[in-house]
Amino acid sequence: MEFSVSTVELEFRREVRQFLHEQMPGDILQRGKHDFHSLRSDISRVMKALNAKGWAAPHWPADCGGTDWTPMQRFIYLEELRRARVPVLDRPGIDLVGPVICAFGNDEQKRRFLPGILNGDTFWCQGFSEPNAGSDLASLKTTARREGDHYIVNGQKIWTSEANRADWIFVLVRTDTETKPQAGISFLLIDLKTPGIEVRPIWSVEETLTLNEVFFQDVKVPVGNLVGEENKGWTYAKQLLAFERTTSAEVPHIKRDLLQLKHLAATTLRRGKPLAEWRPFVARIADLEIRLLALEWSVLRVLYAREGDPALNAVASLLKVRGSELFQEVAQLCAMAMGDHGVALIPEPDGHHMLRHDGLAPDVVDDEAIGVPVRAIFRRSATIYGGANEVQRNIIAKAVLGL
Ligand SMILES: Cc1cc2nc3c(=O)[nH]c(=O)nc-3n(C[C@H](O)[C@H](O)[C@H](O)COP(=O)(O)OP(=O)(O)OC[C@H]3O[C@@H](n4cnc5c(N)ncnc54)[C@H](O)[C@@H]3O)c2cc1C
Repeated sequence: MEFSVSTVELEFRREVRQFLHEQMPGDILQRGKHDFHSLRSDISRVMKALNAKGWAAPHWPADCGGTDWTPMQRFIYLEELRRARVPVLDRPGIDLVGPVICAFGNDEQKRRFLPGILNGDTFWCQGFSEPNAGSDLASLKTTARREGDHYIVNGQKIWTSEANRADWIFVLVRTDTETKPQAGISFLLIDLKTPGIEVRPIWSVEETLTLNEVFFQDVKVPVGNLVGEENKGWTYAKQLLAFERTTSAEVPHIKRDLLQLKHLAATTLRRGKPLAEWRPFVARIADLEIRLLALEWSVLRVLYAREGDPALNAVASLLKVRGSELFQEVAQLCAMAMGDHGVALIPEPDGHHMLRHDGLAPDVVDDEAIGVPVRAIFRRSATIYGGANEVQRNIIAKAVLGL
C-alpha cells in the first residue's frame, strides 16, 4: 500500500497549521505543553473555536456535523493538533458516544445530544467498567428495569474517567437477566444530575482526581434515552471499543512526545555532555522511533481498510497493544532524561502553577520538562484502560493466529 502525501494533503496541512496558529488561545497552548488532564474550560474554548470552523469531529459522518475528509486528512489534522499542543478534546463525547449516536441513535437523539458535544458545552463520561466487570465486561451487573416510560437503574460503575466534571454518562446496563450475558445488555444515556446518582472520586497515584466510582440507586431514566434497540447494547459497545482501541495507538501523540524527548536529550547534560551524545540513550530513542514508524504505517493501513471489516476488531487490539507500550515508553524515556530534576517539576492540578519547588527546584527550568515525570506515572495505565493488554493478546491469539 502506498501512502505518499499528495500536494493537496500538503496544502491541507498548511491550512490546519495556520488555523491553529491564528485561532488557538496562547494561554491554552502554553498549558497544553504540559500535556496533562487539561482544564474543562480550556477544552470547551478550544472546541468552540474548532466547531465554528466545522472541525470539532472530522471523523463523524458529514450529516452529523463531521467532514468528508480522507483518512489521511484526518490523520494529518490530529498530528497538527498534537504538534500545536492543543489539549486533548472531550474524548468520551467526540470519540466514543458521539459516533455511536450518529450510527445507532434516532433523529431526536442526534438533535438533542450532538450539538452540545461538538460545541464543548456538554461533557460525557464512559460508564462501562464495574468492580467485577472490567476485562470480562459482559458480566456487568448494573440493571435497568423498565417501568412505563422509564428505566429504573441500580448498580455501580468504577474507574469512570472525568465523571467528576462530566454532565452526562453513557452506560451499559443489564436489561435481560435470562439470556446469555452479551444478549441482555442495553446502551443508555443518563444525565448525571438525575436524583439517585452519586459520584465518588478516587485519588490516583499521580495525585490527580480524574477517576471515579458512580453509584446508581433507583435512578429514573426516560426510555427515550435508550440508544438503538433494547438488548443490542453489546453490538454498539463493540464498535465503540474497536474505535477506542485504534485511537489508543496514539501515534500523533507519541510523535509529538518524541520531539520533546529529543529536545530534552539535547538540552540535558550528563557529566558535562548532552544526553543526546550518550550512545546507549540515543540507541533507545532510535529504537523507539523505528517501532513508531512501523506503528504509524499500520494505523494508516487500518484507516484505509473497509469499514465494518470483521478483521478490524483484532487489528484494533494489535494497535492498542503496541501503541500503549510506545506511549508508555516515550514518557518513561522523557522522565529518564530528566533524572532527579523531574521530581521538582510536577504541575499543579489547576494547571496554572506549574512548579512545585519542595526545596528541590532544579537549576534548569525548561518548559518542555514540566509535568514529564507525572505523565510517565499516569501512562502506566495506558496498558490497562481501553481493555487490558493481556486481554487484547488473547483476542489477537484467537482472531489472528487461530489459537
Ligand atoms: C486510568 C484509567 C481510566 C479508565 N477509564 C475508564 C472509563 O472512563 N470508563 C470505564 O468504563 N472504564 C475505565 N477504566 C477501566 C478499564 O477499562 C479497566 O480497568 C480494564 O478494562 C481492566 O479491567 P479491571 O480493572 O477490572 O481488571 P481485571 O479485568 O480484573 O484484570 C486484572 C488483571 O488480570 C488480567 N486478566 C483479566 N482477564 C484475563 C484473561 N482472560 N487472560 C489474561 N489476563 C487476564 C488483566 O489483563 C489485568 O492485568 C479505566 C482504567 C484506568 C486504569
